[in-house]
Amino acid sequence: MVTAPRVGVVALQGGVREHVELLASLGAFPVPLRRPDELVGPDGLRVDAVVLPGGESSTIDRLLRLFGLGHPLRDAIAAGLPTLGTCAGLIQLASRIEDPAPGQESFGVLDVTVRRNAFGRQVDSAETCLDTAWGPAQVAFIRAPEVVAYGPSVTPLARLHDRLVAVNQGAITGIAFHPELTGETLFHRRLLESIR
Ligand code: GLN
Repeated sequence: MVTAPRVGVVALQGGVREHVELLASLGAFPVPLRRPDELVGPDGLRVDAVVLPGGESSTIDRLLRLFGLGHPLRDAIAAGLPTLGTCAGLIQLASRIEDPAPGQESFGVLDVTVRRNAFGRQVDSAETCLDTAWGPAQVAFIRAPEVVAYGPSVTPLARLHDRLVAVNQGAITGIAFHPELTGETLFHRRLLESIR
């Protein structure tokens, strides 16, 4: 029997449960991550991939550092751990935040510049069917960021009203919206497929 891939879900703040349930429904074994020893054990990494959920990015950033999870997680992602960041998770992965909260830092592993809370009222919180490079996706936008600039190693995946809202760079995918709230499995399936 093939063992289920272990997928870490950063569980410090924000929308954790829906990711856990979606991953489990796809046959993966979700592993909530709060402490560094839940990510790295004596024999190395304890997960095969990781999801950074949405929430409040400046709070998640602060808690990542407070719990000591930030550095080991950043290093694992930089070393090639397959990663999906949604909304605040995308912000955490970014190389540059255009309008950070005071003291807010990000991992700098995804070569994009993000602008937080980029969308006005009409898509402040909205469910929509997006055309993505990987196929159609039914997703929810909640005070979503947008990608305002990206480097040559980044592939754009989807736009909403001409604004870039999904990108891929090697093993890292960053999306400005929430597929887990609508039960959209596309991005989580791609994450599981990218596990070697
Ligand atoms: N606006 C939030 C932030 O800047 C992100 C919103 C979300 O993750 N749904 O962190």
